[in-house]
Amino acid sequence: MLDNVRIILIGTSHPGNIGSAARAMKTMGLSNLVLVDPECEVDGKSKALSAGATDVLESHTVFSTLDEAIADCGLVIGASARPRTLDWPMLDPREMGEKAVVEGAKYPVALVFGRENSGLTNEELQKCHFHVFIPANPEYSSLNLAMAVQTLSYEIRMAFLASKVYPVQEEEYPLAEEIEGMFNHLEQTLVDTRFIVPAHPGLVMTKLRRFFNRARPEIKELRMWRGILSSIQKSLPANETKSAEIEGNKSE
Ligand code: SAH
Repeated sequence: MLDNVRIILIGTSHPGNIGSAARAMKTMGLSNLVLVDPECEVDGKSKALSAGATDVLESHTVFSTLDEAIADCGLVIGASARPRTLDWPMLDPREMGEKAVVEGAKYPVALVFGRENSGLTNEELQKCHFHVFIPANPEYSSLNLAMAVQTLSYEIRMAFLASKVYPVQEEEYPLAEEIEGMFNHLEQTLVDTRFIVPAHPGLVMTKLRRFFNRARPEIKELRMWRGILSSIQKSLPANETKSAEIEGNKSE
């Protein structure tokens, strides 16, 4: 996934910044460095500041336009030193990291940085799906280019590490109707065990809904709950009146 994240620097004028950006990237596990229309050469100063990241520095690619650099990307995010430069969808750095990690599993994702003296042009910003702004001191919000690369690369790394602990598996969550089925089953079981008295149900079900909603059970966990409830019902002495009670209660 991290190989799918492309760091694009547009019109960079200081060779040292390119080296420092390469170093920042490597510390966070990123390696895909792209220069668009650079205004300086990658030279000895770049190499010195890249420290041990000469591999990232040397494997950089150069394009003359942003269009070419992002052609195969499914998600393009522009880093802007000014908040709300344009009225455009904004992400904070944390949201940017999560989006880059989720979408980076499917296609290349570009993070675009502007020139040291003038940032990104409006035209370049409009080629981005989202803008990201590091919420720095409002009176002094412009970070050095390589430090902006460092900060945003760190957020991508944090999101990447979190995604390994809590994998995003949306398709594993049950549908609302399946959850409702479980709640009906739970309520019936609690009536059968007499924990809920149908004439005075109180707030038990509301509290249980809140509890399950907070836990957000996956499909397999929901099935396990259904199994648990069935096993409780089976272990109870058969008593038809109890089911009749809740049915009667519902129709009241
Ligand atoms: N003087 C320029 C800023 C250049 S800083 C301006 O006012 O726009 C170089 C690049 O680093 C910026 O184009 C941006 O991509 C990135 N950057 C610097 N500070 C940032 C911040 N607070 N949030 C997001 N990106 C930032």
